[in-house]
Parts: sequence; C-alpha cells; structure tokens
Amino acid sequence: MTGTIHHFFGGRAMEGQSDRTSEVFNPATGEISALVSLASASEVDAAVDVAKQAFPAWAATPALTRARVMFKFKELLEQNRDRLVEMISREHGKVRADAAGEVTRGLEVVEFACGIPHLLKGEFNENVGTGVDCYSVRQPLGVVAGITPFNFPAMVPMWMFPVAIACGNCFILKPSERDPSAPTFLAELMIEAGAPAGVLNTVHGDKEAVDALLKHPDISAVSFVGSTAIAEYVYHTGTAHNKRVQALGGAKNHMIVMPDADMDQATDALMGAAYGSAGERCMAISVAVAVGDAGDALMEKLEPRVRGLKVGPYDDPEAEMGPLVTRQAYDRVRGYVDSGMEQGATLAVDGRDLTLQGYEDGYFLGGCLFDHVTPDMTIYKEEIFGPVLSVVRTAGYEEAVDLVNAHEYGNGTAIFTRDGDAARDFAQRAQIGMVGVNVPIPVPMAFHSFGGWKRSLFGDHHMHGPEGVRFYTKLKTVTSRWPTGLRSGAEFVMPTMK
Ligand code: NAD
Repeated sequence: MTGTIHHFFGGRAMEGQSDRTSEVFNPATGEISALVSLASASEVDAAVDVAKQAFPAWAATPALTRARVMFKFKELLEQNRDRLVEMISREHGKVRADAAGEVTRGLEVVEFACGIPHLLKGEFNENVGTGVDCYSVRQPLGVVAGITPFNFPAMVPMWMFPVAIACGNCFILKPSERDPSAPTFLAELMIEAGAPAGVLNTVHGDKEAVDALLKHPDISAVSFVGSTAIAEYVYHTGTAHNKRVQALGGAKNHMIVMPDADMDQATDALMGAAYGSAGERCMAISVAVAVGDAGDALMEKLEPRVRGLKVGPYDDPEAEMGPLVTRQAYDRVRGYVDSGMEQGATLAVDGRDLTLQGYEDGYFLGGCLFDHVTPDMTIYKEEIFGPVLSVVRTAGYEEAVDLVNAHEYGNGTAIFTRDGDAARDFAQRAQIGMVGVNVPIPVPMAFHSFGGWKRSLFGDHHMHGPEGVRFYTKLKTVTSRWPTGLRSGAEFVMPTMK
C-alpha cells in the first residue's frame, strides 16, 4: 500500500480531517493500493469557501487569459500523458491503450475550452429603439460542482471542469472514490498551468460529501455522471436546493444489425463496443438486435471471437480487456449471468470460469455472450456494466426500432446496414440522445455535446461543446441609452420602442 490520497483544494493537498477513508484496489491483483480520504460536510465547506473567494477575480480575468491557462494545461496533459495513463489503469484496471484513448477524449474538451473567447461572444443590436442599443452576454454562475463515476476517472471530469473554468467559474470536483489518483493529479496540473488557487478543487468522498455539495448554498450548479438511481437523486435534491443540475445516468445501448449489414464489420464493431473496457462504459453496446437472417450469421461470427478475447492485466500489451473494477462489481455481473441462464437465455459463451495465472485474486471475468434474450429478462432490462453481450432476435426492422424506443434508457444506439433509407429512418425516429450509423459507439466529439434521453439524463443540458457553455453560464441582456439620446419624460405604460 502506498499511503493516503488526500483532497486538493486552495492550490494544495489537504489532509482529510475526518477519520473516514475508503480502500482503493488494484483490480488485477485484488490488493489494496492506497486509502482515500472521505470528506465530511465541514471539509466540503472549506473547499467551497476557497472556491468562493477565488471566484470574483477569476470571473473578471479576461477570457483570453483564462484560455491561455487552458493552452498550458493541454501542454501539461500531453507531457504527463503516460503518468496519467498509469494512474487510470492501475486503479480502474482498463488496459493502457484504452486509458490513453480516455486521456485523448478528455484533452479534446480542453482544446475546445481553449476557444472560449470566441464561444462567449454575445449578441448586439444597434438601435432597438431610437438611440437605444441592446446586447446579451453570458456570465459565469459562481462555484459549480462535478460528481463523477469510476469508469472514466480522467475523461468525465474533463467533460466538465475545462468548460466551466474557461467560462469563469470555480469548480469543486468530487471524483469516484474507486480511482481517485488521476482526478487529483488533474487539479495539481491546473495549478502548474497557472490557474489561481481555488479555481479547481478536488474533494474526495461518498454520499456525505455529495449531499453536502447538493445542499450547499454557495454552489450554483451541479454536473453529475453515474448510475441512474443516483443521477435521479442528485437531480431532485440539487434542484430542490435551487441549483442548476445536469445528471447523466446509466444506459442499455442497442445496436441493430440489419440482414444487409457487412457482418464482418458489425462483428468487429460489437467486439470493441461490448467488451472494450470490460463493458464498463456508458456507451458500451450491451444488446445486439439481430433482424431476420442476421441472427444466425452474427452468432456464427461472434462466438469464436468472444471465446478468443484476450483478457489480462492493464500492463499486458496483448490484453484487449482488463478486470472489473471491484469484487462487488465482479459478483454483481456474475449474478446477472446466472440470472440470464435461469430465465432461459442461451449462454453461448461462458466467461465465468476464467482464471489467470498469477492473478487469481483479480476481478477478471471472461467475455460472456447470450443468444435468444427476450425483453422480459432481467439481463435485458437492467444495466449490467460488464463484459456481457445479449443478442435479441427480431423478425423485422419495426420490431427492432420498437425495442430501442421502449427501453427506459436512451443514451446511445447504432444501426448497421447498407440501406440508406433504413439508416435515415432510424436516425430520425430513435428516442435516444446519440445515434450511430455503422458507428457502434457514437460518442460526440468535444465540439458537439454528449448526453442521453429518457432515464439516461435528468436536466436540460448535455455535456461539453456548446451545451456545456450554456450550462455553465447565465444570460444577461443589457438595454442602454445615453443621456444625450431622445428624452420623452416619465412613461407609465409598458415601454415600446419608438
Ligand atoms: P455511481 O452512481 O455509483 O457513482 C457515481 C458518483 O456518485 C460517485 O462519485 C459516487 O461517489 C457518488 N455516489 C455513489 N453513491 C452515492 C449516493 N448514495 N449518494 C450520493 N452520491 C453517491 O456510478 P459508478 O458505479 O461510479 O459509475 C458507473 C455508472 O455510471 C454506470 O451506471 C454508467 O452507465 C454511468 N455512466 C454514465 C455516463 C453517461 O454519460 N451517461 C458516463 C459514464 C458512466
């Protein structure tokens, strides 16, 4: 064990005042790698206080200067990429190449935030009335908080704070307690990049810290990413305390495979999208909807590929996926596989007996593949968040679309087909926030915005991109007339422009 991971706020590491800690594991070995402090409400107060003090000067700093901090931060991320990858992989378990991809997708949001002077440009109308001008600007909210999940310990925080901070806000990050090293390091790098103390603060914790943030009178807005039950709780509690909230939840992403699809391409897509990162991605494909003849053709290609998946520790360059994040996650996913069998699905590939020599205590589960899954089964209805792919067969396209639209989650979906009409129809009718056409994981780039529909997102704004700028700013509209302009004396009726 290497010691305790502390909070980082006011520009420095802050030892936890409460004696509560949580264990951080190396999922490949099952060993405890560190402890992480869990903040009490008073520690959250202290962090919010330094952020509140830093806010007026940061908000008044020219957007160009704030952008230059982001440029420097981007440079530091590039220089420290390997260190960050190591931190992510060691605590999360994902293979290094996957962690490097995560860093890149986060870095792209920083690149987007570097353009903040342009993004904050307002609107101006000359002479809305005689001698009267009107302009609209977007101003920062104040102190805002981000609460993030374990599965992207660097990328999801970077969906949030670069945009929030570039807009002139100060930020409190409450990362997942499962893999706290990378997000702490990001806060350190922001200081090195020139952000004043208090602009980005990391406070570790669990429900106690989250509740303190949700109820804190000096927090203006909360961004959340995690499971749906907690997202819904965060949304209701935060809005009940008059905060702006965007809360992104869980997913059950379907990929429709039409009979005319290129089956090799569809198989490759499913392998990466279902089993990459051991299925611990909110945009993972967990249901393949095979239409008509596609079912047999797909299963024939998928089965040997799933059997041949290379599972290993993060530092094995040959490994395609690593272990699950914790023993509890492993037990939960195994439980789902058992329930699928009990409820009558066909387990075509069983990954439950996988053992790796030298890693017997790691949380490794082999790839599992179910065929003939039906919508009434628990494995269809619930998010499994593990390396388990369910194949559902439908007679036709309409039935497949109905499945996608009837599911309670609406994060991502995809269709694999050569038929342009089907693809266009699907993109239009899918009740889902992010749609791929022959693209299995349609995660929008940083200059678009990320978010689901239905029970995958509570709130009105998607994350990063233009929606992020809107979320982290409020609109002000100024109507002005100079004293030398037209004088009409006191007016007692609703003003109209002359
Ligand atoms: P989680 O909901 O357990 O935890 C998310 C955050 O909430 C963590 O910071 C955690 O400390 C905090 N938290 C946990 N329990 C809490 C409670 N009772 N009260 C208040 N706060 C609490 O999620 P996770 O297991 O870390 O992440 C996996 C989940 O996140 C999956 O459901 C996945 O689909 C989802 N996710 C969604 C997206 C998206 O963009 N929609 C992206 C990534 C992950």
